[in-house]
Amino acid sequence: HGQAGQPQGDLFTVNSPHVVYTDESITSSYVYRTTKVTKTPSGNLEATPFETKYDFKVERCIPKVGLMLVGWGGNNGSTVTAGIIANRKNLSWPTREGTQKANYYGSVLMSSTVKLGNDGITGDDVNVPFHKLLPMIHPNDLVLGGWDISSMNLADAMDRAQVLEPTLKLLVRKEMEQMKPLPSIYYPDFIASNQGDRADNVLPGGSARQEHLDKIRTDIRDFKLKNALDKVIVLWTANTERYADIIPGVNDTANNILTAIKAGHDEISPSSIFAAACILEGVPFINGSPQNTFVPGIISLAEIHKSYIGGDDFKSGQTKMKSALVDFLISAGIKLTSIASYNHLGNNDGKNLAEQKQFRSKEISKSNVVDDMVAANHILYAEGEHPDHTVVIKYMPAVGDHKRALDEYYGELFMGGRQTISIFNVCEDSLLASPLIIDLALVTEMMTRISWKNSSDDEYRNFHPVLSILSFMLKAPLTPPGTPVVNALAKQRNALCNIFRACVGLQPESDMTLEHKLL
Ligand code: NAD
Repeated sequence: HGQAGQPQGDLFTVNSPHVVYTDESITSSYVYRTTKVTKTPSGNLEATPFETKYDFKVERCIPKVGLMLVGWGGNNGSTVTAGIIANRKNLSWPTREGTQKANYYGSVLMSSTVKLGNDGITGDDVNVPFHKLLPMIHPNDLVLGGWDISSMNLADAMDRAQVLEPTLKLLVRKEMEQMKPLPSIYYPDFIASNQGDRADNVLPGGSARQEHLDKIRTDIRDFKLKNALDKVIVLWTANTERYADIIPGVNDTANNILTAIKAGHDEISPSSIFAAACILEGVPFINGSPQNTFVPGIISLAEIHKSYIGGDDFKSGQTKMKSALVDFLISAGIKLTSIASYNHLGNNDGKNLAEQKQFRSKEISKSNVVDDMVAANHILYAEGEHPDHTVVIKYMPAVGDHKRALDEYYGELFMGGRQTISIFNVCEDSLLASPLIIDLALVTEMMTRISWKNSSDDEYRNFHPVLSILSFMLKAPLTPPGTPVVNALAKQRNALCNIFRACVGLQPESDMTLEHKLL
């Protein structure tokens, strides 16, 4: 795979007068085709094909990238770290099912393919790894670091997590023993009180929010310097916090939140401090937990500083399934009338979610995930009508990281028939989340090297600081203010894939396959 500082060897090149390759970049002139719909005076809809021309530019040089995790010593943090080391060293280890090799299963970029086109001779589909669509960094090259309120080194943290096989742990233990999380921000009011006993690695100063913000900024700079990095990405995989109240004058605007941080205001959460520190450093910040880190003041701060943010809450198990299944049912014309979702889990995430305020953050993030699909089908659902939807989460220590997710989908079929679909999903939660952390980091980094312009612009510019392109990996996707949220899984994947295709001048794959259908 590509080396940092070098242009990556391309698996394919695009043969088109609209696509230009240089050592530094790939540029494409692209026609974006959409449809504008208006209502005529007689009440009919009129659909007008609409074209916009964009130029895209992709920097080809692969940077050396650091990924700093907040909550590095948690189940996800320790699992993704061990997984990357195992892949980097190409490890294999004995298990009771035989020899297991390191892989990146569960990463859409590393382990799924996209159709590039049709073979010129046979007409067969030609598929390429998603990762090869654009010159992306490789997860093996990520330099890992981060913070945790627990001082445990990463090897011990991996034992505490109880996720990986002992035979694998032995092989990565030495390296992980050397990894120690930096002290972090701990405001006990934001996470469950049952987390207090692991908080032995906290920044001094009580609620001295400005000092904490400055310290996190220094940590990021030091990490970058020490590891000779071109870029750093920060990702929150720490405990779920309670929601912060939105208080006018405190966290509603960029200026207010900076002033409130200076004043040490109680309602500014640790995750918002991390977000502000990253934005001020121009470092992308992704939130993998459900709380409202991105209060309006943080979003406007990101807009002002043109610094990338993305969130919220990894879409790993139950919700990923839901956003695929509900999309299928409703788009097949079946009227889903209720969704009942139960979870029980026994890891530290479950323990933290056992308290009401933290559970509430998760409940909110899990609740709105079918809204867009319901709203799109006005044949099945009247204005404002919704399927019943309940989410329950219980802490059951015995099941550890092997989270159980039980879902019942109940719906109405042809002529009053009823259908019940019941799903029982068991797997290690952290093995689902870890590849998402990798995808989030890789796509985010890629977005820092993509720019665009209108044909009339002189200069290329960035995408909107709120990276809704990350939606596939996130349960409650943050979108630029005033823009729609897409939860449907297939649409999210198409958006990611087709934006990347556009960057190398390829049209979206339409799946029409007319070449096989016409006589
Ligand atoms: P975990 O409890 O094992 O890890 C969280 C870590 O964060 C702990 O080590 C804790 O000490 C640390 N921490 C808490 N507050 C901190 C702070 N202010 N600064 C630095 N570190 C802090 O949990 P996990 O299973 O790794 O999950 C992490 C987060 O990801 C949770 O919020 C969870 O809800 C979210 N999430 C996980 C999944 C999944 O599939 N695993 C899916 C969606 C969301």
